[in-house]
Amino acid sequence: MGVASAGDGRSRGRASGVGGASAGGRAACLSVPAALPTLHSCVWSLREENAGVFSLQVKELFSSLGVDCNILELDQVDEGASVQEALSEITSQRTVPSVFVNRVHVGGCDHTFQAHQSGLLQQLLQQDPAYDYDLIVIGGGSGGLSCAQEAAVLGRKVMVLDFVVPSPRGTAWGLGGTCVNVGCIPKKLMHQAALLGQALTDSRKFGWEYSQQVRHSWATMTEAIQSHIGSLSWGHRLALREKAVTYVNSYGEFVEHHKVKATNEKGQEALYTAAKFVIATGERPRYLGIPGDREYCVTSDDLFSLPYCPGATLVVGASYVALECAGFLAGLGLEVTVMVRSVLLRGFDQEMAEKVGASMQQLGVRFLRKFVPVEVQQLERGLPGRLKVVAKSTEGTETIEGIYNTVLLAIGRDSCTKKLGLEKIGVNVSEK
Ligand SMILES: Cc1cc2nc3c(=O)[nH]c(=O)nc-3n(C[C@H](O)[C@H](O)[C@H](O)COP(=O)(O)OP(=O)(O)OC[C@H]3O[C@@H](n4cnc5c(N)ncnc54)[C@H](O)[C@@H]3O)c2cc1C
Repeated sequence: MGVASAGDGRSRGRASGVGGASAGGRAACLSVPAALPTLHSCVWSLREENAGVFSLQVKELFSSLGVDCNILELDQVDEGASVQEALSEITSQRTVPSVFVNRVHVGGCDHTFQAHQSGLLQQLLQQDPAYDYDLIVIGGGSGGLSCAQEAAVLGRKVMVLDFVVPSPRGTAWGLGGTCVNVGCIPKKLMHQAALLGQALTDSRKFGWEYSQQVRHSWATMTEAIQSHIGSLSWGHRLALREKAVTYVNSYGEFVEHHKVKATNEKGQEALYTAAKFVIATGERPRYLGIPGDREYCVTSDDLFSLPYCPGATLVVGASYVALECAGFLAGLGLEVTVMVRSVLLRGFDQEMAEKVGASMQQLGVRFLRKFVPVEVQQLERGLPGRLKVVAKSTEGTETIEGIYNTVLLAIGRDSCTKKLGLEKIGVNVSEK
């Protein structure tokens, strides 16, 4: 028989004892002998009477806990006897097996089972003193936050790094990711604003009489939406705190295996290590790569906190994001045009997609099909200003021009994995 451990090959400095000769009491720090494999959990045993049976029991226990157990077969290694002697000296335990968990000497078979019963073994297994955290989640959106909280509930020491790189227009937001800040939530609130307007119009036919002219205030709507989002974001921070998850508002980037550099808004850097990482960095809107797009166009990242009413808007794209935005902007009474390169809602049932298009047209949305913008020029500065969009046909040589107050790009989203330093840890990233 021999020694079992679940190590990863990195060297570790010291071990403290909790069992062995001290029968469960915490002993002074004990150095792990250099001859031992670097251990996460280890069973040490020799071919002597009963040792094999007890070693097997310990191994079965680890296996039932789902813990990988590295085994050092003492009688199979050179200098096995001197290793055992050194180990006996530092642990005061002469019998085998001898179990180490996370560099902590647990003791023999009985001590290991006692530690399991008392919960100590699980606690030791959960700690990884080689790293600052058991888990670092990069990205505090819907995915990252739920993953971090679940891991914390399971007893892991967790950190979340979340940082929003401002959009080309300078828009940024707090914790919570796309859904809370610039996605599902504000989108549904803007739909609600549009639906209320529709209900008001319908209400007259249902007998409601009011003399006051009804107008919509973009500023009031966005202020209320942003205030609601702020409270959700704060709620996420509290939830992390309650579960003892460390939240750091910094941009995470791998510098080597198990290590990230976190850079905050002020450019201050800190290094953190973890046994495991989860990448939950989400996606950001794509730009067209034509003159004027980054300078003059907005995306859904900007729309929900736009400090002025966008006015006559050209929505470029036919994704669900494009059509939903076009829908609520039209519902708020704005003049909306959608420029479609090929089909509506690619990937969705096309019969349904066309029904959506037809219903939007009925609501006053104009569609420019089979055109793509090639240039955006600023005609007038202002809030909103005036933009000229030059577009060309995807089927011929025809070129058209249009004047709009706002151009909203919704042509797809790219995953945020390019600047994560993944090449430093041997992760290949597909160009797509
Ligand atoms: C307009 C719009 C409407 C939508 N509507 C719906 C809907 O109705 N229903 C639905 O199910 N889905 C909807 N979605 C999609 C949904 O929002 C996303 O699928 C979801 O938010 C993705 O969550 P995530 O955790 O993967 O990423 P995200 O929520 O994007 O979170 C990633 C986080 O990581 C941060 N980050 C990125 N890189 C780093 C780094 N290196 N270091 C630190 N932090 C980093 C980002 O800033 C962000 O905060 C919508 C999306 C949009 C844009």
